[in-house]
Amino acid sequence: MQRGKILPPTTIDLEVSKPKEPRLASLHTCGCCFSIPLDPVKCASCEKISCRSSFRNRQCPTTGCKDTNYKELCRVFRNSFAELEFECTYCSMLFVYENFNSHYLQDCKAIL
Ligand SMILES: [Zn+2]
Ligand SMILES: [Zn+2]
Ligand SMILES: [Zn+2]
Repeated sequence: MQRGKILPPTTIDLEVSKPKEPRLASLHTCGCCFSIPLDPVKCASCEKISCRSSFRNRQCPTTGCKDTNYKELCRVFRNSFAELEFECTYCSMLFVYENFNSHYLQDCKAIL
């Protein structure tokens, strides 16, 4: 892989950042863009997770749910994002949710 060719991703795209536990990750996946949200919110009706930016000005992505309102996640669910671990498909290093930005902006051997 050539250096300097890869741009740091801005979302946790599951094709680039492979979740260690796909089942756990699927509970934390945005229904609009299918990434793991860095700024998660949930639908006020069906409680499906979404990125704040994905939900904005849109309807809930859940089939049959027409709600356009979202609410903040409870602290327990928000904290559960911290348990997510990913493998970078560029350099094979493991990183946790909070280190997504620092991995791709500082630590990733394939990007630096
Ligand atoms: Zn999204
Ligand atoms: Zn909904
Ligand atoms: Zn990497």
